[in-house]
Amino acid sequence: MVDIWSKEKRSLVMSKIKGKDTLPERLLRSLLHKKGFRFRKNVKRLPGKPDIVLPKYRLVIFVHGCFWHLHKNCYDGRIPKSNISYWKFKLQANVKRDKNNVQLLKKAGWKVIRFWECEIEKSEQKTIEKINKIAPK
Ligand SMILES: [Zn+2]
Repeated sequence: MVDIWSKEKRSLVMSKIKGKDTLPERLLRSLLHKKGFRFRKNVKRLPGKPDIVLPKYRLVIFVHGCFWHLHKNCYDGRIPKSNISYWKFKLQANVKRDKNNVQLLKKAGWKVIRFWECEIEKSEQKTIEKINKIAPK
């Protein structure tokens, strides 16, 4: 069976351990900072431990790793071809948990924006537009 990733790519993906700062997260934070938004990061007391929280706008932002959260139609969001059932179970559980956390947050009156890592990497403009819609500056 052919692995969908090169060795390099796989180790890159595997090194993106959940909860750790990823490059897109850092990009997003510096973008928010540049635009003058005030935010807190890794807020543990909220469901899903959101990566970024803008208290003024009661807005929660998640940055989802394409691999760990199964980004549809994304190269990085594919289930590996080896240990399929293991990965399917694990990754689909993440997606389920995400949905549940969003529901809990919304019920508590939070607005939620979810970014995919590849989305942030692709366009700074679109990223900030998505935020401005909910948190006008
Ligand atoms: Zn993606």
